[in-house]
Amino acid sequence: MKSGFVNIFGKPNAGKSTLLNALMGEKLAIVSPKVQTTRHRIKGILNAKDYQVIFSDTPGIIEPKYKLHEKMMQAVKSSLEDADVALLIVDIKDSLEEADEIFSSLSLKVPSIIVLNKVDAVTNERIDEAVGFFSDEKYCKKVLIISALRNLGLQELLDEIISLLPEGEPFYTDDNLSDLPMKFFVGELIREKIYSLYKEEIPYHTTVLVQQFKEKTTLTKITAEIIVQRETQKGIILGERGKMIKELGTQARKDIEEFIGNKVFLELFVKVRPKWRDNELHLREYGY
Ligand code: GDP
Ligand code: MG
Repeated sequence: MKSGFVNIFGKPNAGKSTLLNALMGEKLAIVSPKVQTTRHRIKGILNAKDYQVIFSDTPGIIEPKYKLHEKMMQAVKSSLEDADVALLIVDIKDSLEEADEIFSSLSLKVPSIIVLNKVDAVTNERIDEAVGFFSDEKYCKKVLIISALRNLGLQELLDEIISLLPEGEPFYTDDNLSDLPMKFFVGELIREKIYSLYKEEIPYHTTVLVQQFKEKTTLTKITAEIIVQRETQKGIILGERGKMIKELGTQARKDIEEFIGNKVFLELFVKVRPKWRDNELHLREYGY
């Protein structure tokens, strides 16, 4: 029996959430073409007869501009320290030198695998160039190529991960797909819809706090607060005569129903909390 923790690192948009979802076969991490949607460490647990892999999708590696970003960096570092294997994901279209610089600066002690993602989007020449570039690096055990989106190379990746995991009993029981509470995933699904429905700045000034998650026999009752920083943003979230928030609620409800496999009654409220992103107390309250 092999079991252990695997952390997924990489720049925003490298494809970390997509990879985690593809490996898990369940929509646990949110995926968005915009950067920085994954603020938390999300764990997915992959169980088989002879292994258990616990995945963590870390936030993107970014500069600590706001307090929120500092927290993200802390999350990146702390997850580095307790991993058994690190997956260093690179968008194969991105600058290899920059990725190399970031990975070197992390000074990894855990065995790591360079995962070159999005090979579906480049030529064979680029693939050869990228594999060649990383194959001499001392901080990685292996360089693998995948397409998380098209499910290419995932079995090879999984085999390599398992070979690097220590021997040991499982940490979690079979039926725990994830150790994060439902409330968290529901909040993430709502947040994902905010990213797809509202333009530019809005999603970055917004967070979601799920207040109530009550399972009844025929439906699940969910109440959530959408937290913004200014009155004007509240107006945008609501939309003309509440049109936008109604659309948000409808779309989010459908996804939540699919995820939990039950009918959902979803109530959304919008609250203004000036500068929530810089406020320690609020950040803690919202689970960062
Ligand atoms: P994260 O920020 O690292 O978690 O990245 P995401 O998983 O959210 O992916 C960012 C964007 O890249 C999304 O639009 C994905 O659909 C896209 N993407 C992820 N994997 C692949 C891939 O293998 N091929 C292509 N062409 N696009 C991908
Ligand atoms: Mg992500």
